[in-house]
Amino acid sequence: MTVWNLGSINIDHTYHLPHLPRPGETLSARDYRKGLGGKGANQSLAAARAGASVVHLGAAARSDDWVVGRLTSAGVDTTHIVRHHDQATGHAIILLDDDGENSIVIHGGANRTLQQEQFKSAIARMKGRDFLLMQNETNLQVELAQVAAKRAVRVVYSAAPFDIEALRAVLPHVSIIAVNEGEAAELTAAFGEDLAVEGMLITRGAKGAEYRDLRGGRSFEVPAYPVEVVDTTGAGDCFAGYFIAGLDRGDDIPVALRRAAAAAALKVTRSGAGDAIPKLDEVEQFLASKEQE
Ligand code: ATP
Repeated sequence: MTVWNLGSINIDHTYHLPHLPRPGETLSARDYRKGLGGKGANQSLAAARAGASVVHLGAAARSDDWVVGRLTSAGVDTTHIVRHHDQATGHAIILLDDDGENSIVIHGGANRTLQQEQFKSAIARMKGRDFLLMQNETNLQVELAQVAAKRAVRVVYSAAPFDIEALRAVLPHVSIIAVNEGEAAELTAAFGEDLAVEGMLITRGAKGAEYRDLRGGRSFEVPAYPVEVVDTTGAGDCFAGYFIAGLDRGDDIPVALRRAAAAAALKVTRSGAGDAIPKLDEVEQFLASKEQE
């Protein structure tokens, strides 16, 4: 089956500073790192590295070939990524201080310019048993979710950044909702416990994760693997991408959860977002080493 992803693509510019700048202050950064990020790109990379057949639907500036190249070399089908001459690739300016505090500025850029007709040929190929991933970092969410759901494609929605109005609009077409602990609390505050979706994936950082099968009335939990944490950016996306790739392959939920937890554990031991998402063989090795312990 195909995992389609209406997904944001961001370039993360990360600067380490002695402290976060005050209004009017100019600071020299200690170091600078440029990497691939955006919840959409991260999830495409994770699902592809987990072995799924992934088609990314999104946009980037024509001048940023390396961004699309990185997705392509991970095995993501990038032929439907719209390339712009006049729009910047979405990007995040991430300021980090010595205490681990951060300030982040995001510019949606090309991620917010998507038009349905640009994906006409992709949409025509969507069929039942495929998945469509989306996150709240692009436009076109409701339009594509509606078309996909009509074709029995299961829509997986990451409600991040959390926006109640965006969520309310897309929810009738969503099969699985993916949230972290904070978002889960906001979700419950807004909708109560009875969401009309098939399932809910809740990640809870070092406390692990849970999948609630709301139709079957069952819940599955997986602990987080204890690891030395370097950078948790993109851990949730790594988890979601691996988990959906598992479901797509027909894995039982506990198996898909365990592999996703292992992938996310490896991710947090590395710095960066998309670039730090592990390959399936690394994840299998990690799991094998845990079984021997
Ligand atoms: P992000 O927004 O950075 O992608 P998130 O808030 O969506 O992250 P989390 O719930 O923090 O996602 O983490 C996702 C998963 O990553 C967890 O369920 C867990 O499996 C793994 N993980 C996160 N933090 C740790 C940690 N400190 N140790 C081990 N595993 C972790």
